[in-house]
This record gives sequence, structure tokens and C-alpha cells, in this order.
Amino acid sequence: MNMNLFIDLRSDTVTRPTTGMLKAMMTAQVGDDVFGEDPTVNALEKKVAEIFGKQAAIYCPSGTMTNQIAINVHVRPGDEVICDQTAHVYNFEGGGIARNSSASVRLLQGDRGRYTADDVLANINPDNIHAARTKLVEIENTVNKAGGSYWDINEIRKIKEVTDKYKLKLHLDGARLFNALVETGETPKQYGELFDSISICLSKGLGTPVGSVLLGTEDFIKEARRTRKVFGGAMRQAGFMAAAGLYALENNISRLKEDHQQARAIADVLSKQSYIETVNPVQTNILVFKLNQSMKDKDFVKILGEKNIHCLTFGPQTIRMVTHLDFTDEMLEIVKKTISRL
Ligand SMILES: *Cc1c(COP(=O)(O)O)cnc(C)c1O
Repeated sequence: MNMNLFIDLRSDTVTRPTTGMLKAMMTAQVGDDVFGEDPTVNALEKKVAEIFGKQAAIYCPSGTMTNQIAINVHVRPGDEVICDQTAHVYNFEGGGIARNSSASVRLLQGDRGRYTADDVLANINPDNIHAARTKLVEIENTVNKAGGSYWDINEIRKIKEVTDKYKLKLHLDGARLFNALVETGETPKQYGELFDSISICLSKGLGTPVGSVLLGTEDFIKEARRTRKVFGGAMRQAGFMAAAGLYALENNISRLKEDHQQARAIADVLSKQSYIETVNPVQTNILVFKLNQSMKDKDFVKILGEKNIHCLTFGPQTIRMVTHLDFTDEMLEIVKKTISRL
């Protein structure tokens, strides 16, 4: 066993392109995408739109940008966005809803990030001059901060009935949607039918160096293109990066299941250790657990770090580990051995 391996469980964004992906990137046909002339970017946008059964798509540098563009296109200043208290759009995008779109936020207390249609209904403001105008409902799937939990699509269907009835927009932060889909067996088209806009990350489990895609109607994406320009996200020969996205969609989706098995294997060992308070149920590739008082969170991260295993604190006494494309079975064995001997 090679105990000198650098084992990085901090995030699934740490992956490096494989030889196959690099080859696809190096041989990509490119052009100036601001003129709409990059054939590889155009092909990626067309392909993702087709996969989800949406009219159009736009390639962006990050998932923060696709989310922030979507919110900016859907709301006007003073409108209100409903999302869960764990939401990435609220917690991890630099206050972007307020900063970019001057909108207010209503936070719901869901079950590991998943709220109900009744919760939405109870939080739509009355139509009078005192209240912010409720405009957008945002769902995250899988839920990062809650430890990779995924939604029951039937609850999303009920939420869509509410948003249709009250003429609200429905946005999906699907940074890790494919992690949910490989577990549930549901299809991208089923999600495409439910949402006005969807953001998909290519640089998480799918393993590309950069890139996210935003989906919606032709009109929505036309506005999104204008907003992307304003946000400074219009790129030139981005086809080199888009080629990695096309490669990932072909090669890296079904294997996500392996990441989930590895996360469960770590959870199994962890749950038997004396320093553990609780291990969240592992549904996908994110593992969140709490340490009891016998082990301080900072010490846990430090001790593992000295053994070349890297993870993050994720709240008081709380640790997050994320499995991914570059986390091998050999690394899994080292992690299992190390955490059972602390
Ligand atoms: C990673 C992530 C994003 C986008 O993050 P970027 O680093 O900006 O690409 C959005 N939502 C969720 C839930 C994420 O985990």
C-alpha cells in the first residue's frame, strides 16, 4: 500500500482531466464564442438541451454564474426567492441574490434540504403593497450542505403545481443532479419537464476542469446570454473546455455510482468508531458526520492531514468528505484503515 498518496476528499471539484479528456480537449474545433462561432461550445449547448428536452442552453464558467444568471433573469429588484436554508445560492454564492439581483430571500427549514409543496404554499407572500413579491422557487438536487441528499420527484411535481398556480418560476440548482439520477433511475427529461431553468455542473462528479450549463426556453437563454455578458462570463475559444464537457457526458455519468459506493464504505467504517457522534445517511457522494467530544474537529482534520488524507470541517464538530473520479479503491483502503486506527 502506498501511504504517500495524496488523498483529497475535500471536494469532487479537485479532479484533473484524464488522458482521454485531455485528448478530446486538445483536438477540439474552436472559434470565437462571443460571435457564436465556437462549434464545440455550440455542440455542447445543443447536446445538453437535448438530453433535458429543453429548448436552449448556455455554457458558463461556473455553477455560481449559471445560478446567479438564472435568478437575475427570473426576478426584478424587490422580488422574493424561496429556497431552503441549506441552499448553495444563499450560503455559498457571496450574497449574490442580494448583490446581483437586489432580491429578498425566504428560507425554508426542509428535511436535509428538501422542503414540501405545503412549505412553499405557506411562504408565498400575499399580493399587497407591504410584502415583497414572491417570484421564484429554487430547489437544489443533490443538496450539498445537507450531505448529498436527493429529492423525491413526486414532491417536486407537487411543488410545480403550486408554482404553476401562483405563476412563480421554478429553478433547479442541479450542480450534482446526475448523482441523484444514477441512484433513482429517473431521467434528465423528467427534470427538464418540471423546471423553468436548470443549472448543471460539469466540474464536480463529471470531472471537467471548468464549466456549467444553464438550460431553459429560447427566450430565457437569450436573456441569459445578455446577463452572462454583463457578469463578464462571455468567453472566446471556450471550445477547448466545452470539449471536456462533451467527453464527460459520454464517459463519466454512469460511473458516479462507484463514488457513491465508496462514500458508503467510508460511512460504514466511520459509524463504528468511538469518536463518532452521528454519520448522516449517505445517498450519493457526499459524506457528512459529527464527532463527539472525544475528538475535536480541527484535530481530526489535522491528524488525517498529516497522514495525507484531506477533508474539511463543515460546521461545529462536523466534517465533510466527498468521493470523486480521482479517488481510487487503493485510496479507499488507506482511508478505511486510517480512520479505524485513530
Ligand atoms: C459547486 C456548486 C455550485 C457551483 O459552484 P461553482 O464552484 O461556482 O461552479 C452550485 N450549487 C451547488 C449545490 C454546488 O455544490
